[in-house]
Amino acid sequence: MKITVAGAGYVGLVTCACLAELGHYVTCIDIQKEKIEMLQNGRSPIYEPGLEPLLQKHLQNGTLQFTTDSHQAYSNPEIIYIAVGTPEKEDGTVDLKYIHVITHTIAHYIKNDVLICTKSTVPVGTNDLIKEIIYSRIPSNIKAEVVATPEFLREGSAVFDFFHGDRIVIGTDNPEAASIMEQIYLPLKIPIITTDIRSAEMIKYASNAFLATKISFINEIANICEKVGANIEEVAYGIGQDKRIGPNFLKAGIGFGGSCFPKDTKALVQLAGDVEHSFELLESVIKVNNHQQSLPILKAKQKIGSLHNKKVALLGLSFKPDTDDVRESASIKIAKELIQEGAIVRAYDPIAIPNAKKVLGDTIEYAYDIRFALHEAELAIIATDWEHIKHVPLDIFHTFMEDPIIIDGRNCYPLREIQKYPVTYMSIGRANVHKSG
Ligand code: NAD
Repeated sequence: MKITVAGAGYVGLVTCACLAELGHYVTCIDIQKEKIEMLQNGRSPIYEPGLEPLLQKHLQNGTLQFTTDSHQAYSNPEIIYIAVGTPEKEDGTVDLKYIHVITHTIAHYIKNDVLICTKSTVPVGTNDLIKEIIYSRIPSNIKAEVVATPEFLREGSAVFDFFHGDRIVIGTDNPEAASIMEQIYLPLKIPIITTDIRSAEMIKYASNAFLATKISFINEIANICEKVGANIEEVAYGIGQDKRIGPNFLKAGIGFGGSCFPKDTKALVQLAGDVEHSFELLESVIKVNNHQQSLPILKAKQKIGSLHNKKVALLGLSFKPDTDDVRESASIKIAKELIQEGAIVRAYDPIAIPNAKKVLGDTIEYAYDIRFALHEAELAIIATDWEHIKHVPLDIFHTFMEDPIIIDGRNCYPLREIQKYPVTYMSIGRANVHKSG
């Protein structure tokens, strides 16, 4: 089929590369010229495992093209996927300005019958608005249908997730549209759930809210474990063996970040508020997460007092491993708090330094090697559980730091292991390790 994907971000690029891999002819459009030029030259503007080779493969065989030209992108595809951003406004509501612009643009340029599929995460009712705008602007001889197709990919394994997702949700009241979408996804052999549009929109928010709830729940249990002398890892394992609960999303740490959970939880609280329902459970989830992200600073101050002029190594900048995305990263928040406290920060990340620089500028120093980050630091804070960080030889802490104090926000090291080294070590929901001797 001829498909256009609007938005060359994390969702749009994965979608266009994977649809080309399924044998479709795909055009990807973005308003950012530099992004499109990079893509036309076979380079991915984002780091996502497996993405760049797939983009290059289909660019070369002519099944994938990149453009900024709306006429080329929208005039005759059979399907248009919307994958533009839906960021958060200052008041926590969803900013739909990109959705509005893209909808008007599509309405202006389409010339043939088309299926418009919204992959962007949008508040319940938004696809009905998209429909209204499209229907009121296109000539009566063109048939356009709007389908909600929420995206569930995880950054860091997004390409894998496209081909091996748990389910595909298709929200439409039109059986013909549902059948076309089913044909697209049938080769993947992933369960397809067809619902009405509003339920599809809600499935996305409810899924993220539930996962965020699981994270805040285990973090609260971890905080209690610290006080009662239990070990969160053993507790989480014990809980997770119950099939009704399951083992995933029970890893305690310094909370969730990224471009989805923080904004989608706030958006759902807002959505509930709009219909006069106070979503207190989710409000608490958000509150717990905010507290959790400030734990490294609280623990550091408890241990060493003022952080003024203290040299701090910050390990990890992305919001999770295997991505360069620093949006709502706990690490960025920690870096900002450290600077406010007057600390001297040197941060390491294997991939995310260029994106972190856009936010933090030269307020901190950057290290492309963990050893350089640790060199002469008085405190090390681990904020992202990259494999590079989890698997460093543990003697590097006392080799490069004089009197190492480590605050591990992601429980990267087994207590049994870290106890063998002359370090002070504090993690989440586990006993502190005090430097011996
Ligand atoms: P992103 O910010 O990485 O990319 C959005 C892209 O859309 C940008 O490149 C931007 O230039 C482009 N754009 C904006 N207006 C445009 C227009 N009029 N025409 C063409 N392109 C335009 O965003 P993302 O992370 O890919 O997220 C996109 C949507 O998918 C959001 O609603 C998000 O909530 C949702 N989502 C994201 C993830 C994720 O892990 N990133 C997962 C599931 C759902």
